[in-house]
Amino acid sequence: MKDQQSPGDTTPEEFRKQLHELADWIADFRENIESLRVAPNPAVAGPGAIRAQLPRQPPEDGEPFEKILSDVDRLIVPGMVHWSHPMFLGYFGWTTTAPGILGEILSAPLNVNAMTWRTCPAATELETVVIDWLRQWLGLPDEFGGVVYDTASVGIMHALAVAREQAAPYTRKLGLTNRDLPRFRIYTSDQAHSSAEKAAIALGLGEENVIRVRSDDEFRLDVNSLGQTIAHDRQAGLQPMAVVATVGTTSTASVDPILEIAKICQEQKIWLHIDGAYGGGFAMLPEYRWLGEGWEMADSIVINPHKSLFVPLDFSVLYVRDLERLRHVFTLVPEYLRGDTVETEKNYMDYGIQLGRRFRALKAWVIWRSLGREGIVTRLREQIRLANLLANWIKKDNRFELAAPVSMGVVCFRFIGADEKKLDNLNSELVERINASGRAYLTQTKLRGRTVMRIGFGNVLTTEEHLRKAWELIRQTAEDALSHGTSGRRQ
Ligand code: PLP
Repeated sequence: MKDQQSPGDTTPEEFRKQLHELADWIADFRENIESLRVAPNPAVAGPGAIRAQLPRQPPEDGEPFEKILSDVDRLIVPGMVHWSHPMFLGYFGWTTTAPGILGEILSAPLNVNAMTWRTCPAATELETVVIDWLRQWLGLPDEFGGVVYDTASVGIMHALAVAREQAAPYTRKLGLTNRDLPRFRIYTSDQAHSSAEKAAIALGLGEENVIRVRSDDEFRLDVNSLGQTIAHDRQAGLQPMAVVATVGTTSTASVDPILEIAKICQEQKIWLHIDGAYGGGFAMLPEYRWLGEGWEMADSIVINPHKSLFVPLDFSVLYVRDLERLRHVFTLVPEYLRGDTVETEKNYMDYGIQLGRRFRALKAWVIWRSLGREGIVTRLREQIRLANLLANWIKKDNRFELAAPVSMGVVCFRFIGADEKKLDNLNSELVERINASGRAYLTQTKLRGRTVMRIGFGNVLTTEEHLRKAWELIRQTAEDALSHGTSGRRQ
């Protein structure tokens, strides 16, 4: 074995051996994932349990890879929530696939920094290509250009930075203070993701200037209320700056009436950002094309292929109509990089605050080529089928009710087989009990102040059989909770 204390890398022979070992480890992990608990056992792995088994001191001498890998098995794997497990039904399910794993692995030896075209032409050009593939799949006009960030939260922050520059020109140069500027407002629904507030915090706009407009019975932004709120703010001397509309809200995957919102934004000259982090990808389905109505009137759109289009975390695309507007806000070339920029090509460092950028496009290219459009839409349709199947089971059991219309791969439901006053605690406790069992994993959310259980589909390994087991587990856990009494922890 190579002595890691001397300079240089592992020998090629040894590295090859380790890679084979790792390949077997990954293949075994994927093949046997179902035999693992979905989440750690809270009785033996409470907060701090993993830390307690790890040395506090950093390593002085190098250790063999075999030993490190055996610690992964011993300490890390049992301490994880296994998002790739077929019984993981939390959030929006998850996007792990075999081709996605291969794509991630491939980017490791290449390990480039794609900050400019010149620092890695292939990474830059491939990013432009996959962004354009997705644009075509979604039916977006070609005046939309995009950039890949790690997450949608980062995407919205950049989009609203451009909206801010439009509302208050020269902010990039002068900032917001000591200028005669009005108070800017951003509007979004009471169901929208908190990334709008985070963006307002980061941009110095203030989280209280993000106004939550009420949603209707189906959790879609209420357009009349939006119009009234904007009018009211204008009368009070405030300046509407942006509306954030959602296609696929976090709790219920509801879809805001984009076309009507877009018309208001156009009339009022307000920036329209569409948060399609989860739901946007479903516009790839011909039967869901209606999701994309009005998108051509938006100023910016975020889609997270790491939520619904099978690209491993992290891969989020921000589209901006006329991408040059984004570049204008963020381009800044330090002297030491001046020789690296090529005017005729994109330098992605110009499109955001991040300078160093990893080769994210590679994993999207690998998974999307592996599945093709057909493979993607087939899998999305299966998620929708499973969601509707579960909804039918829920409707047939009078101890449960659907808590929201089923949209895409998300089902919100509530156990109602007990005294109304106990239901919030009970539903929350059911989720906790199920997750603690290690046999499945769900999440909970609040809708109109009531606690509901929530299941999201996204995992390619989740089959109807898994769903049947999960539903049986939910019903059994409810019966047990009623017959043995609740723990009373959440009074
Ligand atoms: N928008 C919506 C609708 C979401 O559901 C989420 C996260 O779940 C986000 C934005 C934030 O996504 P990210 O984790 O990529 O920042």
